Amino acid sequence: MFENKQPLTSLSELGEFGLINHLNDKITLINKSTIKGIGDDAAVLEYSANRQILVSSDLLVEGIHFDLSYTPLKHLGYKAAIVNFSDIYAMNGKPEHITVNIAMSNRFSLEAVDELYEGILLACKNYEVDLVGGDTSSSKSGLFISITVIGQAGADKITYRNGAKSNDLICVSGDLGGAYMGLQLLEREKQVFLANPEMQPEIDNYDYILERQLKPEAREDIIKLLEKENIKPTSMIDISDGLASELIHICTSSNVGCTIYDDKIPMDHTTIAFANEINMDPVTATLNGGEDYELLFTIDIKDYNKIKEIKEISVIGHITDKSEGCNIICGDNKELVLLKAQGWNAF
Ligand code: ADP
Ligand code: MG
Repeated sequence: MFENKQPLTSLSELGEFGLINHLNDKITLINKSTIKGIGDDAAVLEYSANRQILVSSDLLVEGIHFDLSYTPLKHLGYKAAIVNFSDIYAMNGKPEHITVNIAMSNRFSLEAVDELYEGILLACKNYEVDLVGGDTSSSKSGLFISITVIGQAGADKITYRNGAKSNDLICVSGDLGGAYMGLQLLEREKQVFLANPEMQPEIDNYDYILERQLKPEAREDIIKLLEKENIKPTSMIDISDGLASELIHICTSSNVGCTIYDDKIPMDHTTIAFANEINMDPVTATLNGGEDYELLFTIDIKDYNKIKEIKEISVIGHITDKSEGCNIICGDNKELVLLKAQGWNAF
């Protein structure tokens, strides 16, 4: 019999990133082809000089990452693919292949699987990615989808999380907080429906945030724009867990601090309107909400002129010395508040 005298450590004590660091500590990389292992949006591998391969995986679990009572399967398939493409763009690369692993219970029909794959294949078509394999299993509790994406980029193009330096400008694409507000709206309407199935949903005027939650896009257009303007970001990450958490990732990896300004964070008016309706500060939704799949990147200040007229890119602050920490300047009285990573944590 196993006898365990050691007290066990709960995963919630460690948190998701604590667990990843714990696993990473056990790993020794032995192949020369491994350029970067754990710790960025994708691993970087090199099999031939100057052409590097990018690999990233994401796992979506029913009841944890999605709720099938309000998520159409086609949208779920689309999103499962997009979140993977986003990690390759966050390395300044191009996604080209995916493999798809699914596990589902016997309550699933062929028609349901077709719908899921319709979404995955639509995303592949839109982003010119080939589906090249996967694995299929049954499951005793709910649906699992895990996608691995493979992409590529020239070695000199790849943008890591660790290149930000003092005085670099901090930029984000698009607008933030919408996906989280969309989730809050869907959850609210679910509760209303459960209480009274006859009630009509109150989702008029909120199409934008619903789309942000149910049908996100990956910012390939921003990667192309940066290339056209001849800008290589000094660091980059995609916003899957909320602006605060991603900024802290960049600052920790780059050994720097940052200052951002709450009034510079881009938000759509629909996001603000819904946040007001549920008495939530919309800035909190941008910092801690997540799932926006926008790109967060830093650029050298000399590139400012090239991006200042681009509507889809906002400068929200700058990189500082590490000793200053990660801060946000808030409100009319310009209060300095320490940023905390309170975004999505698997545990
Ligand atoms: P992202 O939010 O960009 O998808 P994650 O936060 O999921 O990134 O992962 C951060 C890093 O940890 C990545 O390099 C990823 O490959 C690695 N990672 C996550 N989970 C595991 C795991 N179970 N085993 C090994 N590496 C992992
Ligand atoms: Mg990422």
